[in-house]
Amino acid sequence: ALRFAKTRQQLLEKMKRDSITDDLTQIANRRYFNQIIAKEWNRALRSQTQIALMLCDIDYLKNYNDYYGHQAGDECLHSIAQVLNRATHRAGDYIARYGGEEFVIILPATSVQAALKFAALVHTRVAQENITHKTSAVSSYVTLSIGIAVGVPTPNLRAETALRFADEALYEAKNSGRNQSCQHMFNLTKLKQWPQQIIKAQ
Ligand code: GH3
Ligand code: MG
Ligand code: MG
Repeated sequence: ALRFAKTRQQLLEKMKRDSITDDLTQIANRRYFNQIIAKEWNRALRSQTQIALMLCDIDYLKNYNDYYGHQAGDECLHSIAQVLNRATHRAGDYIARYGGEEFVIILPATSVQAALKFAALVHTRVAQENITHKTSAVSSYVTLSIGIAVGVPTPNLRAETALRFADEALYEAKNSGRNQSCQHMFNLTKLKQWPQQIIKAQ
């Protein structure tokens, strides 16, 4: 029993870690995200630098659960979370489980081009994971759709609003055929002419 004895300090640290970790996927949870987004948004506001928020939603996970079982669906979620976690490797980047089968990624100091490149990488890595999905209408393996909001914060633009932009872009990616990314740019006047761009997985 002594092997399991922990100091008070170790126990407190474990409790703190557990309170910000999602059990199933072992990445940060929504609570942690809420703390981080506030800090990162304010930092980008003060320094007037671009920040990218990305919402990644697994395609046809309901079909996956129905066909392979909820347990397999859980494993799929865990695998995809780990893929996203490995892709989000730059110091200062954050990933969290945002909701059921949705993940959110914060990329501070990131341009539109860099955000699009990152999204393309994510699609490729998810494809390489090669999780068979017979009941997906878009692919033979598990894919995801991504909504990106990228721009420079202003005092009257809240992070919640930028997240809504990302959600709208995600909706567009879903409606345009899934397995792709769409972006919404805010306060990038010099880039206004930049076309709405869709990134498709290879
Ligand atoms: P879409 O391509 O439009 O995103 O289709 P979808 O089926 O992924 O999306 P929908 O919103 O219709 O359903 C979400 C599914 O995700 C249904 C729900 O059971 C599943 N899901 C959410 N959280 C979990 C979880 O923790 N474990 C498992 N196995 N499934 C989950
Ligand atoms: Mg969803
Ligand atoms: Mg989904």
